Amino acid sequence: MYIDTLMQFCTDNGGTLDLPWTAGEWTYASNRFIVVRCPALDEDPGGRGVASIDRVYRTAGPKPETGWVDVPEMRGLVPCPMCSIGGGRSVCHECDGTGSVTLSNKYSTYDDITCDSCDGSGCGDFCEPCNGTGRVEPEPVVEIGGVWFIAGFVRQLTIFKNLQVAPVNCPDQPNWFRFDGGDALLLPTRS
Ligand SMILES: [Zn+2]
Ligand SMILES: [Zn+2]
Repeated sequence: MYIDTLMQFCTDNGGTLDLPWTAGEWTYASNRFIVVRCPALDEDPGGRGVASIDRVYRTAGPKPETGWVDVPEMRGLVPCPMCSIGGGRSVCHECDGTGSVTLSNKYSTYDDITCDSCDGSGCGDFCEPCNGTGRVEPEPVVEIGGVWFIAGFVRQLTIFKNLQVAPVNCPDQPNWFRFDGGDALLLPTRS
């Protein structure tokens, strides 16, 4: 496992989870939703970590011996409906994405005036729903072994080889995932 790989599971908000950290036998990374860990790296990744991680592992219980199922291949991402013209930027609210507006005063109406807000591009601000990528999950949640997970989180884990989960259908219980080189915890969600 490389630090760069773990970095994909860190936050970037200037908090304690911005870097992976090593504690005992493991190096961890977490974005508050997923915890990924691998056997302690030689290099210190520099993070301080959070004490509450112990509680997460206590809640999850020991890593199961049995009950593992393969995580199926994820369906491809689809264009974001909120920004499909803008590729990661929302549709301009001023011109509805057309790039032009109609102006009128007492005497006349002017069609096809270039929209000031977007300089005629039709694009608005950074698109939050797709995080500016222009693409979103085809379904927000995915079912594996009778348990539902946020699709985007499962997709994040699919960078790992031989990804499996031991499904436990209990809302507050993190589910164990395992893969070549480490394991992870992720909370289930509602369907
Ligand atoms: Zn506009
Ligand atoms: Zn979008």
